[in-house]
Amino acid sequence: MQRLESSSVPQAGESLGDYVHRLRTTLGLSQKEVAIKAGVHAQSYGKLERNKTSSLNRKTKQGLAAALQIPSDYLDAVCRGTVVSPNQGIRFCPHCWRPGTPPDSIWLHSRAQYCYVCGTQLRDRCVNCDERIASLKHRFCPYCGTAYQALKALHVEKEG
Ligand SMILES: [Zn+2]
Ligand SMILES: [Zn+2]
Repeated sequence: MQRLESSSVPQAGESLGDYVHRLRTTLGLSQKEVAIKAGVHAQSYGKLERNKTSSLNRKTKQGLAAALQIPSDYLDAVCRGTVVSPNQGIRFCPHCWRPGTPPDSIWLHSRAQYCYVCGTQLRDRCVNCDERIASLKHRFCPYCGTAYQALKALHVEKEG
């Protein structure tokens, strides 16, 4: 049985190198591809996976987060050796989030309830089946197929 979503959340005790390696292989990317997407030197990226790097500068972190489709907070957590609670999950604004992009880290803040841009209540579950959203790598809920991104409000009331 294929798992729908191997967790993109760092696991307890996982090193930075192991974590990025796991994400990269889950995405089916080569080291070189990730390095290019992240805007880092391939050699530096190689060092990272071999656990020769324990801290990341801001630019590298943001590049890697985008390349690996995770919030950069996750990389922070791994560097600090803290665990991201899987229950925290992904929270995002259904209006401002664009499919294929990682959620804004401000939405993921543990106390954020509403979008700082448009004031919409942030969403962490599928509107249709209420399944927790584990990853925004997908555009649609893997359980019921509902699009995560809110569709423009259409008035589709039919007459009669
Ligand atoms: Zn918004
Ligand atoms: Zn669903």
